[in-house]
Amino acid sequence: MDRDELLHWLRTEDRGALAELWARADSVRQAHVGPAVHLRGLIEISNRCTRRCAYCGINATNHHIARYDMPDTAILACVDRAIELGYGTVVLQAGESPLWSRDRVAALIASIKRRAELAVTLSLGEQDRETLRCWRDAGADRYLLRFETSDPELYARIHPREPGAPDRLEILGWIKDLGYEAGGGVMIGIPGQTWDTLANDLTTFERLDLDMIGIGPFIPHPDTPLGHDPTAWRAPVRDQVPSDEALVYRALALARLLCPHANIPSTTALATINHRAGRELGLQRGANVLMPNLTPTHYRAMYDIYPAKHGLTADTPYDSQHLRTRIHTIGRTIATGPGSRNHRSPPSPRRSH
Ligand code: SAH
Repeated sequence: MDRDELLHWLRTEDRGALAELWARADSVRQAHVGPAVHLRGLIEISNRCTRRCAYCGINATNHHIARYDMPDTAILACVDRAIELGYGTVVLQAGESPLWSRDRVAALIASIKRRAELAVTLSLGEQDRETLRCWRDAGADRYLLRFETSDPELYARIHPREPGAPDRLEILGWIKDLGYEAGGGVMIGIPGQTWDTLANDLTTFERLDLDMIGIGPFIPHPDTPLGHDPTAWRAPVRDQVPSDEALVYRALALARLLCPHANIPSTTALATINHRAGRELGLQRGANVLMPNLTPTHYRAMYDIYPAKHGLTADTPYDSQHLRTRIHTIGRTIATGPGSRNHRSPPSPRRSH
C-alpha cells in the first residue's frame, strides 16, 4: 500500500469505504493469526520514573502522585493469578528507575520463569544493551517499547532525551538482535502529530517488521506539560491529527493490513475512551490481543499514565468470566499457551481436496 492510499484510508469519512476497511482488516486477521484472542496479564510493577515525557502522567515532574514499587511477593502473587486464569503471558510494566536494577529485574524474571511455562514480556522503557541482554538471558521473551511517533522533531519535543541516550528506534534494533520478540507502537492525536507523520508511523511498523504493535489514542493528563496546555503544541488545524476513536480503528486496521502476522492488542486506552464497546471493536477491526490488568487495585490508581484508565476499580470487565463471555459473544475464541508471533498463517479450516 503506498502513502497516498494510506492517507486516503486514514482520512476517509465515507461509511462504505470504512466498512470495507474493517472487513479487510478482519479477514486478514482471521487468515493470518486466526480467531483466538491472546490474553496477556499486565502487572504495573512500579510508577517510579526518572524521565520527563511530556505526555505521561507518571513522569518525574508530576508531584501529585504517590510513588510505589510492588514487592516481589506481590508481583509473584499476580503471576500466580495469571497462571490460575490460564493466561500464557505476563507483562511487567513500569517507569524507568534505578531502583529496578539490572540484577533485581533479572532475578524477578528468573523466578517467574521457574513458576510455569509463561512468556514474560517487559515494558520497562529505555535500557542499555547490556541490561537488555541480561534480561533476555534471564528468560524474558518479549520487549515492548513504543516509539510514540516517527517524526524525530515531535519526538524530541515530547520526550526529552537524556544526554547520550540512544533513540528508541535504535533500542528496538537491539531488542530484535538479542532475540526478543519486539513491540513498538504510537499514540494517535499527539498535539503536533500530522497526517503525514501518522502515515509514516504505519510504514515504520512494516519496515521494522514488528512482532507486536500497540496503538492507542493520546489522552491528555492535566498534570503533564502536554495535557496542561495542548493547544500550545498543536500543528496547524488542517494538519493536526485528532485524538479520536474512529482514527484509532483506522490506524489499527491499516497496521493489520501492513503487518498481517503481528500480534496487535485492542489497547486499554481504546477501552478507556469507549468503555462500552472499544475493546470489542478493536478486536473486530484488526486486533487479536487483550491485556487484562492484574495489578492490585490500590497500586493501579497510582499508575496514572493517563486519566480514568479503564479498569481502575475492582469491578472491572476484566473479571475473567465476563471477559471470556464478551470474547465469545463476538465469535472469537480464547488462546492458550504463550501466543508468540507465528510467521506462518494458521491452517485453513477448509480441506484442500
Ligand atoms: N515506561 C515505559 C512503559 C510505560 S508507558 C515506556 O515508556 O515504554 C506505556 C505507554 O503508555 C507509552 O509507551 C505511551 O504510548 C502510553 N501513554 C503514556 N502516556 C499516555 C497518554 N497520556 N495517553 C495515551 N497513552 C499514553
